[in-house]
Amino acid sequence: MSDFILTLSETSLQMLWFATQIILGLLLADFVTGFFHWLEDRYGGPSWPVIGPIIRSTIRHHKKPRRMVTRTFFQRNGLTYFLAACFAVSFLIVGWVNPLTITAVLFGAMANEFHNWSHKKPSENGPLITWLQKTPFVISPFEHAKHHRGKKNTHYCAVTGWMNEPLERVRFWRKMEAIIRAFARLRPRRDPTVRRRPITA
Ligand SMILES: [Zn+2]
Ligand SMILES: [Zn+2]
Repeated sequence: MSDFILTLSETSLQMLWFATQIILGLLLADFVTGFFHWLEDRYGGPSWPVIGPIIRSTIRHHKKPRRMVTRTFFQRNGLTYFLAACFAVSFLIVGWVNPLTITAVLFGAMANEFHNWSHKKPSENGPLITWLQKTPFVISPFEHAKHHRGKKNTHYCAVTGWMNEPLERVRFWRKMEAIIRAFARLRPRRDPTVRRRPITA
């Protein structure tokens, strides 16, 4: 009997550890993809070599958010899949293959597609995706719309959106920008779609 209880508690602990790793993987995917989004939105320029085209498409997305839904799956997700593959290979090389890293890579790879779904109407997404957006595991259009408001410099995470509120509460992105400004003397790029406040006398 005691052996049975011991096995049962061991199984429960394993299940709990498995679920914890999945949750941590989702948080990691949300944060890392949000981090890349923040870098694209705030640093570099459209004429920069290599990353210039990425910056141009980021600026275009802020100007015309719905344009992305007209692009092909590969045009939208090619870069994200490439980066996810790089992470997957790195994890394989160092031997970090577990539910946490697998979840992070799979959901991280889907970041821009989830983002794309958040710009589509329910009639375009269909019932399954519309239902998924109502679960906590796929970002909702309402949550991502917060990024496109105001100065467009908040709520960068677009996988589940779980990291948005905690990061905004501690002003994480502004603190990162202050650190970069202090050490690298680099100011963040202002979004050209955001109007400057009129100077009032
Ligand atoms: Zn953005
Ligand atoms: Zn967007």
